[in-house]
Amino acid sequence: MYELIERLYPICRSITGDGVRATLEVLRTQIPLEIQEVPSGTAVFDWVVPDEWNIRDAYIRTADGRRLVEFERSNLHVMSYSVPVRARMTFADLRPHLITLPDRPDWIPYRTSYYKRDWAFCLAHTDLALFSPDEEYDVCIDASLKAGHLTYGEYYLPGETDEEFLISSHICHPSLCNDNLSGIVVAVALAQHLTDQRRRRYSYRFVFAPATIGAITWIALNEPRVGRIRHGLILACVGDRGPFTYKKSRRGVADIDRALLQVLRDRGRPYSVREFSPYGYDERQYCSPAFNLPVGLFSRTPHGEFPAYHTSADDLNFVEPTALAESREVCLSVIDLLEHDSTCVNLSPKCEPQLGKRGLGGSWTSDGDAAQREMAIRWVLNLSDGSHTLLSIAERSGLPFTLIQQAAFALSQVGLLDSHNVHYRGPREQAIGT
Ligand code: ZN
Repeated sequence: MYELIERLYPICRSITGDGVRATLEVLRTQIPLEIQEVPSGTAVFDWVVPDEWNIRDAYIRTADGRRLVEFERSNLHVMSYSVPVRARMTFADLRPHLITLPDRPDWIPYRTSYYKRDWAFCLAHTDLALFSPDEEYDVCIDASLKAGHLTYGEYYLPGETDEEFLISSHICHPSLCNDNLSGIVVAVALAQHLTDQRRRRYSYRFVFAPATIGAITWIALNEPRVGRIRHGLILACVGDRGPFTYKKSRRGVADIDRALLQVLRDRGRPYSVREFSPYGYDERQYCSPAFNLPVGLFSRTPHGEFPAYHTSADDLNFVEPTALAESREVCLSVIDLLEHDSTCVNLSPKCEPQLGKRGLGGSWTSDGDAAQREMAIRWVLNLSDGSHTLLSIAERSGLPFTLIQQAAFALSQVGLLDSHNVHYRGPREQAIGT
């Protein structure tokens, strides 16, 4: 995952343009993405697909030929969607177009102006010292902004049912790692893992689209299908060292919300859970009132809450392989949970069945202590009345989902529990009771 970030990091992405295409081409070396091109001017609900933006070069040069700011050195130097400029201007005229971060003087800010025609250079505040109020400067932004396409990528992995699990990641940020390359590479890793999985209850749809306009476009063009989405996750900011943060779907009690809470609780490490709000990433679109899809946002440190956010400090040093790997593991645990959650029926519900004679006295699994294992057996037997799922048993008992799942499997093996789905064990599950 980290190597994929290294490959994607230099590419200048935006909400449209060749940087998006180059990014999707790199992803296509990992998974068989289908790439869609949607023409500028296409109406998508209350929005219109904008003109396509491409940039070749940009610089600010002194009259004697010294380049003070160069796009070649960092693609953050040019505000995304800047209109083309070629002019000689005084410092007074140039200064309103220079954006810096005075309180983080060594970092280059990341700025965009998608829907207002404007231009600017972003630079380290310390580099303002290179400019002189008396000099004139040659300013060049060799960009184009004209009718073209919005590009997104999609990978659909069919399962046993056409109920879908959506994984969505935005692809519109230039050289920034945590926001948003981390989300992209974790999504790719999940896609690869699920492709190799022998059986899938759900069908999986991976969407790699520019934020906001891309998600809106995808939903508008796929409106008849969005009702199939049973669970969904937006992945963003999953490569930093911070603890996990889950932002619930608008529904707040959807299975995806409960699954995330359960998995994070079972890990036994610090995490935080937030209620839905209509501010953030593309959950804003998926959770808009007409759709109200069960889609939450999975992050480590949330956007806007780490100093490097939307600056050049969100670089290859800011993300780390172990953080990416943990994020992938949590997502896989959530997927496992939802794949295997099921409703069971106790086949011996008249008083407690006798466990000892069936070898369920406590030695049926090596996980957890014997008392906890026995409690898992008792909870599964008691709540398996056909109206509780394994997840709801885990929630009510306070026990880890995997222990409840293993108890259910052990009980089904000795004929005390009826559930076809607990027999379905994915490759990540450990064999128990054998
Ligand atoms: Zn962002």
